[in-house]
Amino acid sequence: MSKTKNKTAFFCKNCGAEYAKWMGKCSACGEWNTLVEEVVTKEVKKVWTKDKRASKPQAIHKISFKKESRINLNNNELNRVLGGGLVPGSLILLGGEPGIGKSTLLLQVSLKVKGLKILYVSGEESEQQIKMRADRIGIDNEDCFILNETDTQAIFTQVKEIDPDILVIDSIQTLQTNSLDTSAGTISQIRECAGEMQRFAKETGTPVFLIGHITKDGSIAGPKILEHMVDTVLQFEGDRHHGYRLLRSLKNRFGSTAELGIYEMESSGMREVSNPSEILLLQRDEQTSGVAIAATMEGGRPMLIEVQALASSAVYGTPQRSSTGFDIRRLNMLLAIIEKRAGFKLGQKDVFLNIAGGIRVDDPAIDLAVIAAVLSSNYDRFINEKTCFAAEVGLSGEIRSVNFIDQRVSEAEKLGFERIIVSKYNVKGLNAENRKIKILAFSKLEDVFKSIFS
Ligand SMILES: [Zn+2]
Repeated sequence: MSKTKNKTAFFCKNCGAEYAKWMGKCSACGEWNTLVEEVVTKEVKKVWTKDKRASKPQAIHKISFKKESRINLNNNELNRVLGGGLVPGSLILLGGEPGIGKSTLLLQVSLKVKGLKILYVSGEESEQQIKMRADRIGIDNEDCFILNETDTQAIFTQVKEIDPDILVIDSIQTLQTNSLDTSAGTISQIRECAGEMQRFAKETGTPVFLIGHITKDGSIAGPKILEHMVDTVLQFEGDRHHGYRLLRSLKNRFGSTAELGIYEMESSGMREVSNPSEILLLQRDEQTSGVAIAATMEGGRPMLIEVQALASSAVYGTPQRSSTGFDIRRLNMLLAIIEKRAGFKLGQKDVFLNIAGGIRVDDPAIDLAVIAAVLSSNYDRFINEKTCFAAEVGLSGEIRSVNFIDQRVSEAEKLGFERIIVSKYNVKGLNAENRKIKILAFSKLEDVFKSIFS
C-alpha cells in the first residue's frame, strides 16, 4: 500500500460520478441519496503503463486503414452478437444475474477457440473448481490458462509472462487495484480496475472480456459508468426455470445491437441454438385454444414464436391484465382495439398473455398473433396449428405491413407452416408464386377473424 495521505471522495452508486462533497442529489444522473463516501489515494500510480514513446500527430492521408480483422471465437452465436467476431483491442462487458451462466459461456469459449492463447482470470472460483467445469465442457484448446487472482498488478505481471491473445476477467467486481485503498467491489475500485483493463486493451490490442454481475435493479455492476467505458455491453439473460439463455448486445461500437444469440444450458455447457424456432415452438399432441404463432424478427434473424393467452371472466370488479415477454401497454391498446373495432366485449375479462420460452419480443409484427391468441382463448376456438401471423395492427383496426416480410414467410415455410396471415400492403414485392405456403393478405381485422375462426 502506498504511504500517501488518504483522501476521500463521494461516488454516485447509480452512475459512478465523483464528487468532492456530499450532496443529496447526484447532478450527473439526477438520483437522490446515491452518494457514498470512499477512500481514494491521489497520485494514482498506473498499474498498466505503456512504453515511453508518446503518440505523434500523423497526416491523415498517411494513416493506413486496415480493415479490422475479427477474431473467430468458434461460437457462432457469440460471433454474431459481437458483430461478426471479436475486434482486437476491444473491451467487452458481459453482464447478467449471478448463476445465469456467464462464466460457463466464457470458459467454454476459452476452451473451444482454435489456435489462440487465452488467460482466464477468476476471482470467483479456484483453479480446481474451474478445472472440474472445464472437464465437463471438454478441453480442445491446450493454450487456455487459468489464474486465480484479484490483484490487477499481479494479473498484469502474469499477462506479460503469458502474453495471451484474449484476456477474460471473472468478475470485474472481484478485482482490486492497489492504487486505491478501498476494498474490491466498491465503485471507485470497479471504475479504476475497468480503466486499467481499458488501457491495457487499447495499448496492446488484446481483447478483454469483463464479466459483471448485475444488481437487482438490472443495471450492470451498480455504476453505469462501466457501460460508458467499454466498447460492447452484452447481457446474458434468461429464466432460471427455462433452459434457454439469450445473449443481447446493449451497446456495440463494432456492430448492430439488434442481434440476439440463443443458447440452451446443458450439463456440458451452453449449446448454441442455431434454429431458434424449433425450441420456441412448444411440442404439443393436441390443439389448445389461446395459442397463436407469430413470425417475428430478432436482429437479422426470423423466428417463429408461440403466443399464449388466457381470457377468463373477471372475478373481481376490475379486470386484470398481465403480460410476460410483451409490453403491457401495447397489450392494453390491442385489447381496446378489438373491443372498439371488432365489437368483442373484453371489459369484463381477465387477460393473461405469455410469450413461450421466456423470451421478450418488441417486434410490432407480433400484434396480430397476440389478438388472435386472446380471441382464441376468449371463444375457446382453436387456430389451425399450421397457421401463423406476421402483421402490425393499427389503432383503427387496420392490418399494417411489416418489414422483412420475405424472411418471415420463408422461415414459416421452412418450418412446415401451411398458411401465413399478412397485411394486404405487404403482398407487393412478396413472391407468392413458387411457394408451398399459402399467403393470406388482409387489410381489416374483421376479415382476419372470419378467416381464422370459420
Ligand atoms: Zn449519479
